[in-house]
Amino acid sequence: MSEQRLRIAIQKSGRLSDGSFDLLKSCGLSVSRGRDKLYGRVQEMPIDILLLRDDDIPEFVADDACDIGIIGQNVFEEEILNESHEAPAEEVMKLGFAHCRLMLAAPKEWCFDGSLMLEGKRIATSYPALTRAWLARQGVNAKVVMMKGSVEVAPRLKIADAVCDIVSTGATLDANGLKPVATVFESEAVLIRNRQEFSPEKQAMFEALLKRIKGVMTSKDAKYVMMNAPRSAVPAITEFLPGADSPTILELAGNPEKVAIHAVCRESVFWDTLEELKKLGASAILVLPIEKMMA
Ligand code: ATP
Ligand code: MG
Repeated sequence: MSEQRLRIAIQKSGRLSDGSFDLLKSCGLSVSRGRDKLYGRVQEMPIDILLLRDDDIPEFVADDACDIGIIGQNVFEEEILNESHEAPAEEVMKLGFAHCRLMLAAPKEWCFDGSLMLEGKRIATSYPALTRAWLARQGVNAKVVMMKGSVEVAPRLKIADAVCDIVSTGATLDANGLKPVATVFESEAVLIRNRQEFSPEKQAMFEALLKRIKGVMTSKDAKYVMMNAPRSAVPAITEFLPGADSPTILELAGNPEKVAIHAVCRESVFWDTLEELKKLGASAILVLPIEKMMA
């Protein structure tokens, strides 16, 4: 691979893959995803994609085998807390997908009344550093038992009293007689980068990509909202529009009392929002998706 190509590490297959590929696609980058392939080439820009197990991504980026990577914050923070690298990769930005929670779960029969209940107990987890950091913040002394997988069976096997694991629906915990009792860490996918200075060409490419990612992220919830309203209602409507800068006010032909209001709303527009706008005097309200946006 040429020195000048930007190398991006993403998960080969798993819960981060679809989101990572979708993000690149929204940035206008198409990657051919071969089944067993380790490399992908982007057609539109000098970018190479490395497809890896998610656990390897922080290390590949820290060691300069890749320039940037997409990884779950849970895995990245665990790696940072473990201090296995002198110069670990650094987080650049949150990416708004692969949301999940690292949660402490206890047997259903426990009447959990706070973290002090964990004093002297054994907690099984694949995230020992994050778990220890949380226990320390709670002022609790407990033994952390490291398990690579199937953490939720530990209490049944009497390896541990409680577990600390990634939870989405809670169904796996439930099936193992456990219930979530406290949130240890809230995670989502993040973009990380190598700490070394990039060559000017690479830096320019990185910045161009970052600009596109930010554009994709801001346009995700953003909507173009149009409506007609009495001229007198403009101040109230403008104030109410969620996350909008100054709207555009247009004359309506043959109706001097009314105007058309056009605005980009950067926050979610719900049905409630439309009902509220109607109460303020708006009519013919249209909400349109925004495909791309650049500040
Ligand atoms: P690999 O084979 O690459 O090592 P894995 O099995 O370790 O994959 P996945 O289960 O694909 O990992 O999860 C990758 C990341 O996705 C997690 O570390 C977490 O950040 C995120 N994630 C989002 N939702 C969930 C969920 N419901 N359960 C587990 N992880 C989730
Ligand atoms: Mg993994």
